[in-house]
Amino acid sequence: MFTPPLKITFLGTGTSSGVPMIACDCGTCCSTDEKDKRLRSSILVESDTTSIVVDTTPDFRTQMLRAKVKKLDAVIYTHPHKDHLAGLDDVKAFNYFQQQPMKVYANDITQEALKREFGYVFSEKKYPGIPDIQLHKIEDTPFVIGDISIVPIQVWHLHMPVLAFRFGAFTYVTDANRIEQKEKDKIKGSDVVVVNALRKEKHLSHFTLDEAINLVDELSIPKAYFTHISHQLGLHKTINEELPGHIQLAYDTLVIIS
Ligand SMILES: [Zn+2]
Ligand SMILES: [Zn+2]
Ligand SMILES: [Zn+2]
Repeated sequence: MFTPPLKITFLGTGTSSGVPMIACDCGTCCSTDEKDKRLRSSILVESDTTSIVVDTTPDFRTQMLRAKVKKLDAVIYTHPHKDHLAGLDDVKAFNYFQQQPMKVYANDITQEALKREFGYVFSEKKYPGIPDIQLHKIEDTPFVIGDISIVPIQVWHLHMPVLAFRFGAFTYVTDANRIEQKEKDKIKGSDVVVVNALRKEKHLSHFTLDEAINLVDELSIPKAYFTHISHQLGLHKTINEELPGHIQLAYDTLVIIS
C-alpha cells in the first residue's frame, strides 16, 4: 500500500523512570540541557489526515499538551509494561472532543493487561467520565489506520514478545534485546530506524548502546535514532558526539519526516 509522507514526533525518549529520575543527583539528572530531560518513550505518527500514537506512557497527558495534539485517531501498543500503558485514562479528552470511542490496537498479552489494569474502562457497569475504548487485535499481518499502513514486527524483550512497527520506510523498535532473522528481514530496506539503547552496560532486556549500533549496521539502515534512554547512559551531548554520523540519540520534541 502507498504510504503518504509521515511526520514523526518523539513524545518521549526516556526509560521507565524517565530522566531526570526521582531523587537522583547524578550528572545527567542534574543537567540543564533540555535534551537530557526525557519523558517516557512514545512517538506520534502523522499523515495529513491520520494521527496515531505508539503507547500511552505515564506522561501521556503532558506529551499531548506539549505536542499540541488536537486530534488522535488511534493508539497502538508495543507491550504491556507500565511505562507504555499507564497514561491510557487521558484518552478521555479525545473522546470528549471527537465524540467517538478511541481505537486501540494491541496484541493478546497487552489486551489482557489493559483489561486487568484498567478494569473500570472495560467494566459492565461504567461510571461517567471514563475513557471510551474500541479494542482491535493486532495479528501477525499488516493493518491500516486511516491512510497509514502498519507492519507489526515481533521482537524480544528478554522473554516477552514486543511489537515493533514499520510505517512505510520508517521503523520503530522500543524495548527489545533480541530480534529473530525473519523479523529483521521486515526492518531491512527502511530509510530510518528507531532502536532502544538503554545504557552502555549490559542489560537483561534492552539493547546496550553498542548492541543498538551493531543492529543498525547489520541491517544497513542509513539513518538511526536511539530511544528509551537511561540516565546511566550519560549526557546527550557527550554520547551523541561519540556516535557515528548516521546514528544519533533521539530527544524529546525531535521531529523527523519520513
Ligand atoms: Zn519501556
Ligand atoms: Zn540520575
Ligand atoms: Zn518494557
